[in-house]
Amino acid sequence: MGKDVIKAWGFPVDRVFLAAGPCSAESELQVLETARALAGKGVGFFRAGIWKPRTRPGSFEGVGLKGLGWMDRARSETGLKIGTEVADPSHVEACLEYGLDVLWVGARTTTNPFSVQAIADALRGTDVPVFVKNPMSADIGLWIGAIERLANAGVTKLGAIHRGVSSSLEMRYRNAPAWKMPIELMRRMPEVPIICDPSHICGKADLVPTIAQEAMDLLFDGLMVEVHPNPPAALSDASQQLTPERFFSMVGQLQLPHEQSDSAVFMNRMSALREAVDELDSKMLELLGSRMEIVEEMGRLKTQQNVSTLQPHRWQAILEDRVRKGLALELSEDFVLQVMQSIHEEAIRRQEADRVDGAG
Ligand code: PEP
Ligand code: MN
Repeated sequence: MGKDVIKAWGFPVDRVFLAAGPCSAESELQVLETARALAGKGVGFFRAGIWKPRTRPGSFEGVGLKGLGWMDRARSETGLKIGTEVADPSHVEACLEYGLDVLWVGARTTTNPFSVQAIADALRGTDVPVFVKNPMSADIGLWIGAIERLANAGVTKLGAIHRGVSSSLEMRYRNAPAWKMPIELMRRMPEVPIICDPSHICGKADLVPTIAQEAMDLLFDGLMVEVHPNPPAALSDASQQLTPERFFSMVGQLQLPHEQSDSAVFMNRMSALREAVDELDSKMLELLGSRMEIVEEMGRLKTQQNVSTLQPHRWQAILEDRVRKGLALELSEDFVLQVMQSIHEEAIRRQEADRVDGAG
């Protein structure tokens, strides 16, 4: 369990591992006030951004070095462990000097292997725990690559933070949750603890508890949440920060599921249902195999007649028809589109492969 790993690194872990604190350190008073409100209640570490990567220049870019002094003071006063985001070797150096208890690599930085490598090199020979946020885009290779670069530099205490991915299609959230990405990371790197940052996924304080609960249901080991004593006055990410009261009330209401249950009734019923699902999946795969055989036959006909692989009108008609049929079966439009697009992509790949083979 990731929670035990984090505990072994020396962090307090209550029911769930919690990182909490403001998006940015803004003033000594704000840092101390927030830390005081969070202390003594099972928070794993106090977070605050010191250097803020902003999409566009001109917004608040963080208080820099002096903020580390404020955090250090908050730690001495409250006993909370402290952590911040590092984006280049000079940040790492400053944080090591102040003895920060944990660092994290931000989403924009994970996107760039040069930056990640520079950070990894600066961390050589230290044993500070480092969390790696997923990159801005849904590219799991960059996320895994960043974790590997740090591991190769000798960082042994490595965790991951899922903060969603930027998307122009998903309007409800600031960053689409894209759960399949952390689920895949859990499968590929089961030894790496993973926490969820619902604040940057949601972009709005009201949505944070729902995403936090969803993360618990997906077996995340913890949460990193932006908490500010006066969110409307925050210098960055004002709309997504919770007050300490709201934060603790959310944490108190989290339902923590177990991965398994030893109830015999549950296990019997589940294994019957799983068998049914396994059988349907086999049928679905057989159907997909048959569909692809027909697709290849169509490809050969197209090649003989010098007809294009892509048939835009037919494709449009298929999509409309399948979405309509899907809706009648209570399958969402998005889901049917995704499934059909994957099938179509594979069909095109096969027809094109045949064309090339045939020409060769
Ligand atoms: C942050 O945690 O304050 C932050 C900048 O997040 P991200 O890197 O996920 O955008
Ligand atoms: Mn933020």
